[in-house]
Amino acid sequence: MKKFILYVLITLPATLWLGSCSEDALNSESTIKETPRVENEFDRWLFKNYVIPYNIQVMYRMEDIESDMSYNLVPAEYDKSVQIAKLVRFAGLEAFDEVTGSQDFIHDNFPKSFLFIGSGAVRNNGSEILGAAEGGEKMIFYRVNFFDQQNNDVVGLVFHEFGHILDARKPRPKDFDEVSGSGYVGDVYDTHYTSREAALRAGFLTPYAAHSAAEDFTITFGEYFYHTSAEWEALLTTAGADGRAIIMSKFEIVYAYMRDEWNLDLDELRTVSLRRKDEAKNLDLTILD
Ligand SMILES: [Zn+2]
Repeated sequence: MKKFILYVLITLPATLWLGSCSEDALNSESTIKETPRVENEFDRWLFKNYVIPYNIQVMYRMEDIESDMSYNLVPAEYDKSVQIAKLVRFAGLEAFDEVTGSQDFIHDNFPKSFLFIGSGAVRNNGSEILGAAEGGEKMIFYRVNFFDQQNNDVVGLVFHEFGHILDARKPRPKDFDEVSGSGYVGDVYDTHYTSREAALRAGFLTPYAAHSAAEDFTITFGEYFYHTSAEWEALLTTAGADGRAIIMSKFEIVYAYMRDEWNLDLDELRTVSLRRKDEAKNLDLTILD
């Protein structure tokens, strides 16, 4: 399966992403090359913290990227790569470890490689790709060199893409797609819903959720557990009675699916992931320990 799920930043700050994915065809050839290299301190840390527990390879060197990828790409800086690797482990992967009680869930279900790229990839329409999940096997992180510990949504991106992967492994109930039915508008979502409020009132958590049922599904998943109950309630209030009813119908399907198919309690995941998100602001991401 060669499928790219792209995550696009248009002009919003990272913390305010409203999400945007599409299935553009990037070059789908393998990006891994067999090049002898000198192992450094980060490589040893990655082996201990990503390869051993999770069987995930983190590729951050320019030679990991095929030179003929479709965009002009800048290599990831070493220091920024270290910070993102530490953050994603602490606030993303270990949140699942804590909730499920073992590293097996991530080991068994998470993509087997991460690719770090320094720059963003600008698409023809001027929007910029932040991340992508390829066929459930690789997760690509763009804009690594712009990483800011106090103002980023790297972990939200990981959760968003992971929602797609869980959906791909155990398909979401068809009931979900029927709630908004013909309301999905595809690529014109941002001209169809020009504000978040307009989307909410129509029963979509973000304008991008109106793109397709697949996006709506993972956005419903991530928006719920990666926001406080007060923030979630504020969204439902903005949605009004009709919007709230639609969103809640979809949410209940997502909640039950995560519980029944994956044994994940989204309320517990919320408690753990928000606590870790907070703690991550004060973590020293520069030390390889
Ligand atoms: Zn997506």
